[in-house]
Amino acid sequence: MGNFHKVMVGDAELIALQDSWVVRQPGGFFAGVERDAWEPYRHWLTADGLLIQNYGSFIIRSDGQTMLVDTGLGETADPSDLQQAPSLLEVMQDAGISTDDVDLVLFTHLHWDHTGWNTVGPEGNLQLTFPNARYIVQKKELDYWLSPGDKPANRPAFDRVLAPVIEAKRLDMVGDEYAANREVSAVPTPGHTPGHVSFGIVSGGERAYILGDTVHKPVQLSEPGWYPGFDLDPIESTKSRRMILDRAERENALLAGGHFAFPSMGYAVTVDGQRTFRYVS
Ligand SMILES: [Zn+2]
Repeated sequence: MGNFHKVMVGDAELIALQDSWVVRQPGGFFAGVERDAWEPYRHWLTADGLLIQNYGSFIIRSDGQTMLVDTGLGETADPSDLQQAPSLLEVMQDAGISTDDVDLVLFTHLHWDHTGWNTVGPEGNLQLTFPNARYIVQKKELDYWLSPGDKPANRPAFDRVLAPVIEAKRLDMVGDEYAANREVSAVPTPGHTPGHVSFGIVSGGERAYILGDTVHKPVQLSEPGWYPGFDLDPIESTKSRRMILDRAERENALLAGGHFAFPSMGYAVTVDGQRTFRYVS
């Protein structure tokens, strides 16, 4: 069973939801960054020296609306690779949110591990998991995945997670600077994928950013030049990463990273001249 963790951002509620997680060797996760380079950052690894890869989504409750940011692995992910079977829906229920409550499903990008719970059910009888929601996708992102040509292996399972949403006329294509309401809006952070966005929350004088895959691990606050090999444009993704981390630290904004070990939320702080991440308590 996964976990959830609630914080307030002004008047908005932000809830981290754990779908699943894995542990892996840290060497090679970031392109060209082998085990030795992690030595100064041992504190970000488990006691066994392993790296935790969380799969997490976020609920935002703002101005009477319930928004789900990213939909995790989904029910068809192979549980043998995972520390627990994907449990986003149970965790939502534990947090007091039903699938009917979700008004908007927002995506940072359309990789398979961010779209998995769009639908449930067997092939041939797929249902939209969030029947009352509009599913909001950046046009640039959808265009990329629908354009002809070979795509990387982490593409969305189109027939399972996108086609049913499109057929039900529940998918809205939006621009880069989309605003969901007066408190929640997209912040373009391209590079990991062409249409990748983060989501900013501004409420009651407080701020937060849901990073998506602009930042995969807390160690990147100290090493913003580290990028995973699956970033499609590492120069662009590194620019986006530096931009949003600079902005968040300046604004003292809460940071939420779905691939950060649970509870996946904290602050950018500078200690002894080096930026690092401090988890919420
Ligand atoms: Zn991801």
